[in-house]
Amino acid sequence: MPIDYVLLTAGQIQVRVRELAADLERNAREPIHLVGVLKGAFVFLADLVRAMEGPVTVDFLAAASYRSGTVSSGEVELVRDLDATVTGRDVVLVEDIVDTGLTLQVLQQVVRSRAPRSLRTVTLLDKPSRRQVPVDVDCVGFTIPDCFVVGYGLDFDERYRNLPDIRVLTP
Ligand code: 5GP
Repeated sequence: MPIDYVLLTAGQIQVRVRELAADLERNAREPIHLVGVLKGAFVFLADLVRAMEGPVTVDFLAAASYRSGTVSSGEVELVRDLDATVTGRDVVLVEDIVDTGLTLQVLQQVVRSRAPRSLRTVTLLDKPSRRQVPVDVDCVGFTIPDCFVVGYGLDFDERYRNLPDIRVLTP
C-alpha cells in the first residue's frame, strides 16, 4: 500500500501530547500509573511520560486484535499481561488509536476487574465513525476520519512505526 499524505505532522503531535500530559496531571494527587497498549502506543507513551512532571509509573499490556489487512475481525486477545498490580492505583490506559472500540472494551474490562482506584483512558487518535461498541475515552489527541494511518508507532504489517509523523495509507 502506498503512503498517500501526511495527516498530522510531528510538530502538531508534540504540541498536542504536551496538552494531553497537562490534562492528565491536572488535579492528580496520587502517582499516575500509565498502562501502554503494545505495540502501537509505545512511541506515544514515551513522549507522554516525558511531558509529565510526575510522580508517574509505567507498565504495558499487549492485545492482539485479529485483522485481515486493515479490517478488524472483532476478536481480541490479551497476549501480554501487566507486570504490576493495578489494585488501588490511579490507572491511565494509553492507546494509540480507537477504531471499532473492541480492543479498548476488552482492555478496560481487564483493568477494571482488578479494582484500580480510578481508570481513565487516553488515546492519541480516535475514529468515532467506525465505532461498533460504546467505550469511554477521557482524553483524545486527534479525531480523524475513516482512513488507515501509519507512523508514530502505528504500523502496517510491522512497517512504518518509525515515521515521526502520521500518514494515511491508501489501498
Ligand atoms: P479497534 O479494536 O478499536 O477496532 O482497533 C484498535 C487497534 O486496531 C489499534 O490499537 C490498532 O492496533 C489497530 N488500528 C485501528 N485503526 C488503525 C489504523 O488506522 N492504523 C493502524 N496502523 N492500526 C489501526
